Amino acid sequence: MGTLLQYNLIKYECSCGKWRMLPDLFYCRHCFKIKCDDCSCKEVDAIFCPRCLEPSSAPEARMKKHRCMNCNDCAKCGNVLSARTENEKCYLVCQHCRWSSRDAKQEDRENIKSWPSKENPLTSQLNEVTAYMKRLEVMENAPKDLKKGKSSKTWSAIHLKDKFNVQQMVEKRRKALVPDVNPVEAHAPTDPPTLEDELNDRSDVLRTLDQIIMQPLTNSSEPLLPVKVSLIGRVLVRCDECERTLVKRDFGVVTYKFKISSFAREFVPDIRMSRPVEDLKAGVTTPVFLSVTNLSSSSLDITIIPQAEEGFIQCSSEPIKLILPSSRSADSAAPGVHAEQSEVIVFRQHNRIGLRLDVIPSEANLESPVLDLLINYKQDGSFSLLATSEKVLNPEESGVDRILTARLRINLR
Ligand SMILES: [Zn+2]
Ligand SMILES: [Zn+2]
Ligand SMILES: [Zn+2]
Ligand SMILES: [Zn+2]
Repeated sequence: MGTLLQYNLIKYECSCGKWRMLPDLFYCRHCFKIKCDDCSCKEVDAIFCPRCLEPSSAPEARMKKHRCMNCNDCAKCGNVLSARTENEKCYLVCQHCRWSSRDAKQEDRENIKSWPSKENPLTSQLNEVTAYMKRLEVMENAPKDLKKGKSSKTWSAIHLKDKFNVQQMVEKRRKALVPDVNPVEAHAPTDPPTLEDELNDRSDVLRTLDQIIMQPLTNSSEPLLPVKVSLIGRVLVRCDECERTLVKRDFGVVTYKFKISSFAREFVPDIRMSRPVEDLKAGVTTPVFLSVTNLSSSSLDITIIPQAEEGFIQCSSEPIKLILPSSRSADSAAPGVHAEQSEVIVFRQHNRIGLRLDVIPSEANLESPVLDLLINYKQDGSFSLLATSEKVLNPEESGVDRILTARLRINLR
């Protein structure tokens, strides 16, 4: 879609200095700045299974090791496994490559839930080590806690007589502060497998890299098991400066609607090439046809200034001033009517305007002809976050007089 609409040829400058396509950018209505992926914060706001769309809370997902218990993928080709019932028991089969859970040497089951997956054989040992490290952490933090006075009372109470039965409690807390540390036994070394062993254990069928990545704990001698589908997270985007939410989806994972959407397309003039550029020749003036669309809720007072920096194509056109009505206003010429035409303005339709700029490429530009434009624009106050709650008393807060800028580079290839 991006190629069809030629978005890939036009890059806008983000407030952090990076160049991105307009659909990839956000707009903060509080800071009046363009934000990209790299200069915004992302937060997971919902975790769900991409197959059955069942939502999970974060602790629940952690318990399930971020896998869905009901959905399984084919171990061979990664397609969805569907259940087949035979003799009141069911098994899983892939409709694409015919691999089934019977190939994995799994018996048929009563229900399609909780098919076994390969567990790490060292899980208990790992848990032991983690617990040991936690105890060490408590010991290391004990002097700091003492300094802070967190447990000073505990320590002084040790010398008191057990008059009110508090001694037991004190002992307990003291133990928590200085736990018994029994070092975990080191993992005993085992002999590495010989080449003969490895050759004997190797299955006849070689596995692809994808199959190995899907089940990294399964040895080549063991059969592949159905793969539990990984859960995915849906993110909400925040501004990194004011921490206000820029993009938030509506409640529920099935919905495609937005509760808050602050995409740059709805605030920045959308500039695209309306016709492909003819062959560029050094020193020959060539027209470039652009369309400017205002998709915002405010009418925009726009000035387009071609930049003449070194390394970029020279533009002989003067800066262009125009007023574009908002996409929501109805007071303009009917679509398709050429309301106004001149040397520069090719057509005007409602909230879109067609422009013609003349460029003169030099020999050095022909390799990568890029046109650099600066847009200054003004809005009527509806960009401000306060405008939505209709509390704009102070024109300064609504940013009416503020001149907004956007910089873009158009690849003329
Ligand atoms: Zn950025
Ligand atoms: Zn699922
Ligand atoms: Zn398959
Ligand atoms: Zn902000």
